[in-house]
Amino acid sequence: MTEDQQKHHKRSFTGFTKEKLEEELAQVPSEQRAAWEKYTVPEGNDVDSIARSIVHHTTTTLARTPYNMDDFGGYQATAHSVRDKLIQDWNETQQYHTIKDPKRVYYLSLEFLLGRAMDNALLARGLKEPYTEATKQLGFKIEDLLEEERDAALGNGGLGRLAACYMDSLATLDYPAWGYGLRYTYGIFQQKIVDGYQNEVPDYWLTYDNPWELPRLDISIEVPFYGHVSKYSDENGRTRHKWEAGEIVQAVAYDVPIPGFDTNNTINIRFWSSKPRKEFDLAYFNSGDYNRAVEDQKKAENITSVLYPNDNHMVGKELRLKQQYFWVCASLHDIIRRFKKTDRPWSEFPDQVAIQLNDTHPTLAVPELMRVLVDLEGLEWDEAWNITTRTFGFTNHTVLPEALEKWSVPMLEHLLPRHLQIIFDINLFFLQTVEKTFPNDRDLLATVSIIEESQPQSVRMAFLAVIASHKVNGVAALHSQIIKDTIFAPFIKVLGPDRFTNKTNGITPRRWLHQANPDLSNLIAKKLGSFKFLKELSLLDGLSKYANDEAFQKEWMDIKYKNKVRLTNLIKERTGIEVNPNALFDIQVKRIHEYKRQFMNILGVIHRYANLKKMNAAQRKAVVPRVVIFGGKAAPGYYIAKLVIKLINSVGEKVNNDKDIGDLLKVVFIPDYNVSVAEVIIPANDISQHISTAGTEASGTSNMKFVLNGGLILGTVDGANIEIYEEIGDDQIFLFGARSEQVEDLRHVQRYRNVPMNPELQAVIHLIENGTFGESHIFQPLINTITVGKDYYLISVDFGSYLESNELVDEAFKDKKAWAQKSILCTARMGKFSSDRAIKEYAEDIWNIDPVPVPDKK
Ligand SMILES: *Cc1c(COP(=O)(O)O)cnc(C)c1O
Repeated sequence: MTEDQQKHHKRSFTGFTKEKLEEELAQVPSEQRAAWEKYTVPEGNDVDSIARSIVHHTTTTLARTPYNMDDFGGYQATAHSVRDKLIQDWNETQQYHTIKDPKRVYYLSLEFLLGRAMDNALLARGLKEPYTEATKQLGFKIEDLLEEERDAALGNGGLGRLAACYMDSLATLDYPAWGYGLRYTYGIFQQKIVDGYQNEVPDYWLTYDNPWELPRLDISIEVPFYGHVSKYSDENGRTRHKWEAGEIVQAVAYDVPIPGFDTNNTINIRFWSSKPRKEFDLAYFNSGDYNRAVEDQKKAENITSVLYPNDNHMVGKELRLKQQYFWVCASLHDIIRRFKKTDRPWSEFPDQVAIQLNDTHPTLAVPELMRVLVDLEGLEWDEAWNITTRTFGFTNHTVLPEALEKWSVPMLEHLLPRHLQIIFDINLFFLQTVEKTFPNDRDLLATVSIIEESQPQSVRMAFLAVIASHKVNGVAALHSQIIKDTIFAPFIKVLGPDRFTNKTNGITPRRWLHQANPDLSNLIAKKLGSFKFLKELSLLDGLSKYANDEAFQKEWMDIKYKNKVRLTNLIKERTGIEVNPNALFDIQVKRIHEYKRQFMNILGVIHRYANLKKMNAAQRKAVVPRVVIFGGKAAPGYYIAKLVIKLINSVGEKVNNDKDIGDLLKVVFIPDYNVSVAEVIIPANDISQHISTAGTEASGTSNMKFVLNGGLILGTVDGANIEIYEEIGDDQIFLFGARSEQVEDLRHVQRYRNVPMNPELQAVIHLIENGTFGESHIFQPLINTITVGKDYYLISVDFGSYLESNELVDEAFKDKKAWAQKSILCTARMGKFSSDRAIKEYAEDIWNIDPVPVPDKK
């Protein structure tokens, strides 16, 4: 090779426009090009080629012999074979998008709750059948291999799972999109139940290699922290700011390909991992302080070590703030690097780049973009601000006060001194425009200020995000209205109503129907004539006309039964409890939180148990047997939530072992709820519970998963339950309880008037207190939340109507034919809740981006 050729050989692919790409290619000697083309032979998708690639990975990648393979080895080899295919699609998509250079969306989320990748990839690429056959020939069962994969659990609950569903839709709809997140060494903890209590075990999920990520050790970005800010005059005599960092950490990229379903497009989530800087600190070296140098390196790696395990709860730890800036800084610089390749002026940045802030976690991207534009690029403040506001969109996920992010000003000043200055400037200029429009309204200025005048002062991240984004959305119709009426009300007045919009959440039908419930998906395809519904979910409506068809009902309910047997086996395996698959399966699985009211559910179970105990044999004959299933993690520091888990298990212990009760009632807590467990639980539901105090659950997404799988809802008039009700109709959903408009008044009444407690609730609490479920003093703090604590979540207010709705559920379940019809109608009417619909709305109304499908190979 000549020196010139070698130089070229090393140059990475930096094509951007078609012309530039061709220019680059023209420089490669033609015999070299011919060689690359000759040896670029895509592997086949036939059973032979697939088996060959699995054997190849067994002997090379794993360095094992094919004759002593276990299922885990089989999974690893198969995963590497699938990964090869994804990487090829990924490469083609990225190259094609580079040449086309369209506007892209960047989805910034601190959490991605992806779950398992292999089955999803096989189904997306239409390769499940040949892989099933190839692994069979090699002596495996594909189901067993799929079970070997560990969940990627880099999220807490709904917010992280939403990000995962949205990436699936972005890929499937061919949008040019990237996700950006953090590669935590420890995902959400594993939950073990010991003596009825939750124990947390660290989730060291990278123990074995992770075939679903591509380390990009060549892509690294330096992230500064601490230090101080100095001023200087630039060549034009303008005052400029320079941030001299006190510490620099390296961000290294790990890319995870996300295949679209039935398309060539495969998009990317880039996860950043923190590493010590390549150039180690000479000061330590010279002073001979080797231990100190090693300590500092470990500190750098600490940043992306662990996912904070709180759902809907803000904890103001400096390490969390460090995570946020580390992630935002690396992502933004990566985005800007990509933009700069195109030689466009800065004014066109918002025409090429849309950045979506998934909650306030990435809000530091706002002052960071301002810093880059003003301090580093020398733009005027006003132009930089115009670019910033046209770039960002912000999704709010909650109105719970304890969940709203506020960062202490001194902490920010210490960690990010220049960003704090910029935030104060943004606030000043904003308040000046407010003062101009509403002169002398000092109260208004105080209410909309980004800075809260607390001790010490704090930064209201949601306000910063609202002010810096051209669109702010809530995640269900009711929630979007509530944020306009409450936390962001003054901004309607100041910024106008057009900044605020609704984007009701959705779920991907690929994972939550096709993958989780293959039998049902196949039956639907048989009935509708194709699998088109998986990409156009409103086609499910075609099932409605068969809802009354007795033969179809039988096929439908046979599948439901099979799914309930599958869950019965999982329950036996994980808890030892035996349940009857003919009973009504009543499921509440989600993070444990007071606002979600699992406590009310278990109190209702106690009421049911007490009633059963009072019945004679004839009365018991008429009872609908029920299995009440719980699952979900409590934040490790959330004492009350952990007590709820203990109470559920104590009630289960008593009820399940009561010979007198038998199959009439079982209570199960399934440990370690996560995405792959959800895939087994959800298809088995007859009803699921979504019973948050009205106005507290922004949307919920598991409600959508359950109904899509032919289950009815027992729920409150909250979040997306309302829109689900509007779609599926009165007969398919049991709604109860106070309305969100009444909640404030009801809380006032609970707090200040001596209202007598609902007598049925009183009786239930008495049973806990008299030791029916073990030592009663354990549960006293829990009971106190209703009594001494004035029942903030209104359990005593809703308890009566909750019990009534439960009775309606039993009555409805007795009519098997009517129930089958309801179940079919539930699925048939869920078209609206595909994440494809949601993503199209974001793309059209907020991001202004178009699909860029990668063409088929000739
Ligand atoms: C969908 C999902 C959630 C969200 O559940 P909600 O009931 O909407 O809070 C949480 N965890 C997992 C594993 C999920 O799949």
